[in-house]
Amino acid sequence: MRIEVVTLFPEFVAEAVRVGVLGRAIERGTVAVNATTPREFATDVHKSVDDRPYGGGPGMVMTIEPARTSIRAAKARLPAGSRSVYLAADGAPLTHAKAQELAKLPGLLLLAGRYEGVDERLIQSEIDESVSIGDYVLSGGELPALVLIDAVVRLLPGVLGDEASAIEDSFVAGLLDWPHYTRPEVFEGQAVPAVLVGGNHAAIRRWREQQALGRTWLRRPDLIEKLALTAEQQRLLKE
Ligand code: SAM
Repeated sequence: MRIEVVTLFPEFVAEAVRVGVLGRAIERGTVAVNATTPREFATDVHKSVDDRPYGGGPGMVMTIEPARTSIRAAKARLPAGSRSVYLAADGAPLTHAKAQELAKLPGLLLLAGRYEGVDERLIQSEIDESVSIGDYVLSGGELPALVLIDAVVRLLPGVLGDEASAIEDSFVAGLLDWPHYTRPEVFEGQAVPAVLVGGNHAAIRRWREQQALGRTWLRRPDLIEKLALTAEQQRLLKE
């Protein structure tokens, strides 16, 4: 997969993708992430990329040009069938399902806004969809773009060392994850649940499913409502 990020802070994006799972995926060539700035296409002496909003009010708005030139140059580097996404607080929520959908694409163009956002006509002419990472406002689209990249790239085949860990993660089967423990077996008087050290794999599976169901029921009842629970799951939940 190839990802192009159009941002006023390309160095921030380029630096952030170099670490951890993402960094390894880039090193292995599973994904390529390139960040460029509209500023390089600004034609005035100040390299302006924003202007005052029509209608008045506070803040500035990112202008159509040079962002459009920057977006088009980035699109030209993407394979056919790629999609363009504007990270925006008023976009569709980023969910596991959305990440799965985007992970099937050969390429993504991500536009990160700044100031009050970008001129609406730029979104209408160059962007396929807007995506939000939550109901709060950040000062720029760079962190949202990085969140989206991380959520998508870890779903690409071969990116996670242990494929099972992605299958068992929160939201994949519609539930939250179960609790995890590692050594020491007893920490400040708190012991790891006995079932996890008993070696009975069927019992461990059952305990984990019960924990996942219970946590989801307590913390995210909205997720439980969307699931058609099996008879066994209903029984585990009642226990
Ligand atoms: N005036 C905009 C509003 O009220 O929706 C907020 C603009 S915000 C200060 C600047 C940029 O940050 C936006 O153009 C967008 O790219 C990004 N941004 C802010 N919050 C976001 C969120 N929750 N999800 C995705 N992008 C966000």
